[in-house]
Amino acid sequence: MQLEIALDGTAVVLLGGRDTARQAVLRYRRAGADLAHFESPAAFRAAGELPARPGLIAVVRSSEAENDGEWAPVLEHYRSARVPIVQEPPAGRRGHVTLVGGGPGSRGLLTVDAVESLRDADVVLFDRLAPWRELERLTTAELVDVGKLPGHHKVPQEEINRLLVDYAQTGGGGRGLNVVRLKGGDPFVFGRGAEEMAACASAGVPVRMISGISSSIAVPAAAGIPVTHRDKSHCFTVVSGHAPLSSQEHDHLAGLGAAGGTLVVLMGIANLPHLAAGLRRAGLPLSTPLAVVERGHQPGQRTTVTSLARAEADTSGCGNPAVIVIGDVVRLASALGEDVGGRGLRELADALADG
Ligand code: SAH
Repeated sequence: MQLEIALDGTAVVLLGGRDTARQAVLRYRRAGADLAHFESPAAFRAAGELPARPGLIAVVRSSEAENDGEWAPVLEHYRSARVPIVQEPPAGRRGHVTLVGGGPGSRGLLTVDAVESLRDADVVLFDRLAPWRELERLTTAELVDVGKLPGHHKVPQEEINRLLVDYAQTGGGGRGLNVVRLKGGDPFVFGRGAEEMAACASAGVPVRMISGISSSIAVPAAAGIPVTHRDKSHCFTVVSGHAPLSSQEHDHLAGLGAAGGTLVVLMGIANLPHLAAGLRRAGLPLSTPLAVVERGHQPGQRTTVTSLARAEADTSGCGNPAVIVIGDVVRLASALGEDVGGRGLRELADALADG
């Protein structure tokens, strides 16, 4: 996490090796500190003019225990002068990639591990579905947008894989960088996370994955829709609507839906008319409730509730990003604190309840 404390013009003495303290140095500079950084106890002793009583001491302990004790006399000196001392985490070992699930787009739904990995990053490659607006406050890393910019083509997957490996191996003047690949939701749910992990592993780059909160569960939840419910649904199926489904797939999904399962469709807005028609043809009852939740957990979140019969007409104004939920659980949608598009949620819910 970035420092929330205002340090404008405050004299801060930062103790820690150049490599292990590199992100902490940037954090304190960004927070406005008047920074004196000493990379070793010897450098500290050799320094002539020191701030007599700095506002704060920040110490970055290296992971090698033998260096740890060396700062003890310096810290003791400041402790007895009653200068506050804060510990900052050391940079992780250079040259690795962390694949991070960023959740559906709000800072609060990042995990603690995600926040810590961002703090340790030298470079972050992010998508627009991740909580990218928060990055300036969460990391001092260089930020690289590999998602689709309006009017631009997104960076092809092969190129992202190559960038991850290159930054980790040869970035930072050949010494390797700590790379975070920040993705929306969970990296292993329609996120191509496995491909990126494989690319790193086959290039010999250490890689790990931090799970994120998937929009497939959290976006319906933002509209008050649980994907399962003891009385209404005992299974949920998450489908990609990116490519039109085959009639066999429609049959299969309609079967699950008819048996009380919840269908959750990601990337499905463009193909919603095709999907709705396919499910009707496959025999899913026309009265089956359907909701589109746009921009879940983000500003402008909107829920539209309708039925399979009226899906195309009632959701024609819906846009990406959106999650489609089909099934009885949609009846539990709550309009709490939310703008509801179309006919009004309560009215629709009542209409659906009446059959
Ligand atoms: N890995 C992601 C999904 C990537 S596919 C995850 O686990 O959430 C991208 C799709 O996710 C979008 O087309 C949309 O259907 C859905 N999505 C992601 N974030 C969303 C949000 N905040 N609101 C609505 N839909 C979202």
